[in-house]
Amino acid sequence: MDIDLSPEDLAFKAEVQAFLSGNAHKPGEDYNEWRLNWFKLARDKGGWDVPKWPVEFGGPGWTPTQHYIWEQATAVAQVPWDLPFGLSMLAPVLMNYGSEEQQQRFLPDIRDRKVNWCQGYSEPGAGSDLANLKTKAVLSDDGTYYTVNGTKIWTTLAHIADWIFCLTRTDDSGKKQEGITFLLFPMKQKGIEVKPIITLGGAHSVNMVHFTDVKVPVENRVGEAHKGWTYAKGLLQHERTGLAGISRSIVALEKLKEQAASVVRGNGTLMDDPAFRAKVAELEIDLMAAEFTELRSLAAAAGGGDPGPESSILKLKGTEIQQRIQKLTVEAGGIYAAAWGALPVGPRFAKGGMAGYLASRAYTIYGGASEVQKDVIAKNVLGIKQSNR
Ligand SMILES: Cc1cc2nc3c(=O)[nH]c(=O)nc-3n(C[C@H](O)[C@H](O)[C@H](O)COP(=O)(O)OP(=O)(O)OC[C@H]3O[C@@H](n4cnc5c(N)ncnc54)[C@H](O)[C@@H]3O)c2cc1C
Repeated sequence: MDIDLSPEDLAFKAEVQAFLSGNAHKPGEDYNEWRLNWFKLARDKGGWDVPKWPVEFGGPGWTPTQHYIWEQATAVAQVPWDLPFGLSMLAPVLMNYGSEEQQQRFLPDIRDRKVNWCQGYSEPGAGSDLANLKTKAVLSDDGTYYTVNGTKIWTTLAHIADWIFCLTRTDDSGKKQEGITFLLFPMKQKGIEVKPIITLGGAHSVNMVHFTDVKVPVENRVGEAHKGWTYAKGLLQHERTGLAGISRSIVALEKLKEQAASVVRGNGTLMDDPAFRAKVAELEIDLMAAEFTELRSLAAAAGGGDPGPESSILKLKGTEIQQRIQKLTVEAGGIYAAAWGALPVGPRFAKGGMAGYLASRAYTIYGGASEVQKDVIAKNVLGIKQSNR
């Protein structure tokens, strides 16, 4: 395994760092204005505003190592907030399966961060077993539009989304995976009701969405009718990429160590406490192992090989590591971190610690629950066959 950076990669790293530090958000600067300008400047660098898009759609055409350098540098730097739904989930599906008309219609607004998308996959009764979905789309007799009826659940940011990409049932005569159709439609229209779901951390990010006789023109169907499962699975692979968040965890762990070192414990600080140190060390070792797994997968991909099965393991381990960091942050904040919803007391970092910890429980659920990931690893990575007993 060769994970040393080449002179070209080192030069690229310096260029990235210079760009990020030269264009960081300045105190007092209007955030939105800065954000949009940042994307413009990144675009002028040669597609840095859409790092994962292929060259033919305006992306930079980076090597896997360059992507890794970018991920690491942007995790440390203050980069603009971005949502994945349009940019990294729907866009690749449109590039691979959408018509030219759809690509021209939707991709520019996604790239300009003008339109917010949400993901209409899960339903009550169809989460891990997604192919069980029941939201029905019926094609009109003249073949010009679909009428959609049904309910989606856990739809992140549906309340601010302009459009939804939605899996619908168009045929239930065969296998569950056959007869699913991938539709795109605006959220602000008659027949769509969005109901908030307040999660454990007290936040409103997910929703239940009801569709009653929603009309969707046939030109908003991606690819062929009844073939949506193929496109849906492709999108899921893109969703899972990056959920491991190894680079972000490296930064978060360093922050945790600083925070713990500011908490007085006996004659020293919490970082001098052997029991706490042991937990941090264990986490650091696991994080390092995950980082090397990520690097190994990148090294294989850069050599023209298959990235390998490491990506499945990364989602599982990466999300568990994120949860452990949140848990130790609460531990470091002690009783102050438990004072959730009250006036902030104690160290600054303790405020929001509990909300962050509770919200982190979802990391091992969305994008494919851990148990399901383990099944995938057992079957497709380890080649373990299911016992008939
Ligand atoms: C915060 C959050 C945001 C989300 N955002 C979105 C979104 O924007 N759009 C969207 O479509 N969905 C979204 N989801 C839904 C998410 O994808 C599902 O919650 C997830 O796929 C699990 O499905 P489920 O909730 O129906 O649980 P179930 O599938 O009912 O699973 C319940 C439990 O059973 C386990 N289990 C299920 N099947 C197996 C198996 N075969 N072997 C072993 N164990 C199994 C699961 O691991 C889990 O522990 C979001 C979820 C959360 C929590």
